[in-house]
Amino acid sequence: MDQIAVIGAGQMGSGIAQTVAQNGGRVLLSDIDLAVAEKAKAGIDKSLGKLVGRGKIEIAEAEAALARITPIADNAAMADAALIIEAATEREQVKKAIFEAAGEFLADGAIMASNTSSIPITRMANYAPDPARFIGLHFFNPVPVMGLIEVIPGLATAQATTDRITAFAEGLGKQVVLSQDEPGFVVNRILLPMINEAVFVLGQSTANIEDIDKGCRLGLNHPMGPLQLADFVGLDTCFEIIKVLYDTTGDSKYRPAPLLVKYVEAGWLGRKTGRGFYDYSGEEPVPTR
Ligand code: NAD
Repeated sequence: MDQIAVIGAGQMGSGIAQTVAQNGGRVLLSDIDLAVAEKAKAGIDKSLGKLVGRGKIEIAEAEAALARITPIADNAAMADAALIIEAATEREQVKKAIFEAAGEFLADGAIMASNTSSIPITRMANYAPDPARFIGLHFFNPVPVMGLIEVIPGLATAQATTDRITAFAEGLGKQVVLSQDEPGFVVNRILLPMINEAVFVLGQSTANIEDIDKGCRLGLNHPMGPLQLADFVGLDTCFEIIKVLYDTTGDSKYRPAPLLVKYVEAGWLGRKTGRGFYDYSGEEPVPTR
């Protein structure tokens, strides 16, 4: 597998880097500064260590995968990447700045992809050097575990780009769903209104957190309730996605639940901050309402 670059080393960027490295690819990993990218690599080391502990992979495999990940401080090294995957914060202005800066180093024939959950690919392609080589590549969390990747060509994406990215995704052992560039693509268009509605149900005190999640687990046979899943995704990310659905369609059914807005304003963003709808400071998550 060719060398790739991942920009944004949060939960998704780390998962993408780990998955690519485990499949033999070399990864350049960047974030707002080198220290964040290095911390992410340490997190990947831990995650690989857990797989070794559970007997899923050999120590040598984990060490080889980790050695294929190189934290970097600036974009110049990305000139050697066949693919640049942006996995930074879900805000269009953040992503625009990244595409413009990293775009200066996009090699001839290389592809630039975004892991956005919801921002239109056709629009963001204008921030990249060549819209024909720009595409949506939407992984699911946690990346090493989840078996799906959505591939989203924009209006200007060349068929050759879609074909190469589909082959890349399948080379990671994932199944691909092809989505047209519509708000939320396929999965988040369905998931986010459900999560948002669960927060409305909570905000109206129809039931508490535990019962809302229990209801969906046992009544719908979902492996995880919507509020627990929202904590996994990150409440800021959920908020940004539902806002994109609302803004791009103008349909009031996508208006963000007021309680979701409050949690984001409080900085209670889910597992990544230790508190969301559940408190993660102890051994087991504890519902906060
Ligand atoms: P996160 O908050 O864990 O990580 C975002 C990272 O981006 C942070 O490390 C931040 O420092 C970095 N960043 C911010 N500005 C940057 C910049 N200018 N340059 C480089 N790095 C920058 O968020 P996440 O959950 O990893 O989400 C990242 C992207 O993946 C978003 O677009 C999100 O919508 C998408 N996504 C998230 C999920 C999920 O379940 N969380 C699933 C699929 C896709």
